[in-house]
This record gives sequence, structure tokens and C-alpha cells, in this order.
Amino acid sequence: MTTVISVTNQKGGVGKTTSAVNLAYYLAKSGKKTLLIDFDPQGNASSGLGINKQQLETGTMSDVLLETKVLQEVILETKHKNLFIAPATPHLANTEVELAKASRRFTRLKNAIANTAGYDIVIIDNPPSLSLLTVNGLIACRYVLLPVQAEFYALEGLGQLLETMKLVRKNMNPTLDLVGVLPTMVDGRTTLSGQVHEEIKKHFPGKVFKTVIPRNIRLAEAPSHGVPIGVYDRFSKGARAYKTVAKELLERIAE
Ligand code: ATP
Ligand code: MG
Repeated sequence: MTTVISVTNQKGGVGKTTSAVNLAYYLAKSGKKTLLIDFDPQGNASSGLGINKQQLETGTMSDVLLETKVLQEVILETKHKNLFIAPATPHLANTEVELAKASRRFTRLKNAIANTAGYDIVIIDNPPSLSLLTVNGLIACRYVLLPVQAEFYALEGLGQLLETMKLVRKNMNPTLDLVGVLPTMVDGRTTLSGQVHEEIKKHFPGKVFKTVIPRNIRLAEAPSHGVPIGVYDRFSKGARAYKTVAKELLERIAE
């Protein structure tokens, strides 16, 4: 069986892509055949894994949504064992507009994944919006993983996401569940960061991962080398944190 996890937060720059790429890497490393779906027109997950977006003859997630290709056709192997990626380019933004009035527009990603066998885990890196793409992501998944940046406005806007999740659960995807809230860019030296962490825990009792992701420059550097943190600097604080969170994530989805 395939477990599908959407990394979602409509706020920009909170660590969605960094979490999607690095968790996918560690899940793959632990032996799970893992597919990372880049579902953001920014294509950051693709470039973060060293995919050259100029040379994508095999196709992208745009082709999958428009149903000119099936998902399996656009999936690329990465340099890392067990880790595969379905890439995206800026064209995905146009695709979203094209889909606006199409039939079955909300369930295209769900159907694409359902027709693709062989993966233990699928991670979807969603864009920073509550758009048609994100709704496709929410309908296609069993779990939402919610990265929250440990800053003053962290919780603002999350009510809207939880509301959208409720609607999706009610209408399309009754088993949709929050697998965990992941505090990111936590700066242990500031009291604000600690306070926000406490706030997040109060807001999501029992849902916050035990391990948090520290602010760590190595995590920000790795994508420019086109590799996950586990390859770029596996002894960095950021690498150790994502490795531990991947383990905790596996425990949570096994429950
Ligand atoms: P978007 O909403 O635009 O898709 P995002 O939520 O996917 O953004 P990222 O791209 O993962 O966020 O991170 C935003 C920026 O912060 C990037 O430059 C990334 O390298 C950096 N970053 C992410 N996590 C950390 C961290 N723990 N420590 C330091 N820098 C980080
Ligand atoms: Mg992103």
C-alpha cells in the first residue's frame, strides 16, 4: 500500500520544500521506495534534487494534470537509492488556469497516484496557496504534514487551512488526517522562538513532532548543490533533525 503525505502550508517560505526533499531522502534511505511529487510551479523540489528543468523531455506534472501523460511516464530516478521525483516547471501555473473549468479537476492528482503502483510513500510538495493545486494535493493524500516557521505570525492563516481540510474531509476525502506539525527554522537562542514553539504545541495538542528543525545555514545551502542535506552535510544539525523526524514520521504512519 502507498501512503501519500501532502506537505502543506499556504504561507510562503516556511520550509515546505526543504522538509519535503529532506524527509523524502531519509525515508528512501530507510528503505522505503519514495516518490517526491513537485507540485509547485516554482519547481524548487525539482531543482533541490538537481533536476535540470530545461531538459525535461519526459514530461512534468503539468502533463499529468492535463492527462497527456500518466504519472509513471514523468517520474525520474534520482542519484539516491529508492528516491524518485515527478518534476514541475513554471508551466504548472498555466496548467492550473487551464484546469479551472475542466471536468474532474479536483481529483486529477488523486487518480494519477492511484494508477501508479510500486511506491511505499509519496510526498507532495504543495505551493504556498490554497489553490486548485493544493486542493488536489489535499484530496490525493491520507496525511497532511504541516511545517510551521517558528516566528511571530506562525499561527496566523492556519485556521483557513484547517477549515479547507475540514471541507475536503467532509466532501471528498473522509480519512484525511494531520500527521504532524513540524516547527521549522527554530532558533534556540531566542526566547521568541521558544514561545512560538509553546504556542504551536498548545494549538495542536499531541500533533507536534518531538524533534524540531533548527535554523541551520547548511539546509539553505544544500539546494544550490542539487542535493539533500544528508548528502551535502550529513553531520549538520539540520541533517540530524530531518533524519530523526523521518523516523518519527514512519512511526506515526505505522500506527
Ligand atoms: P514556498 O512557500 O515559496 O514554497 P517553502 O515553504 O517551500 O517556500 P523553503 O523553500 O523550504 O520554504 O524555505 C524557504 C527558504 O528558507 C529557503 O531559502 C530555504 O533554503 C530556507 N530554509 C528552509 N529551512 C531552513 C532552516 N531550517 N534553516 C535555514 N534556512 C532554511
Ligand atoms: Mg516550496
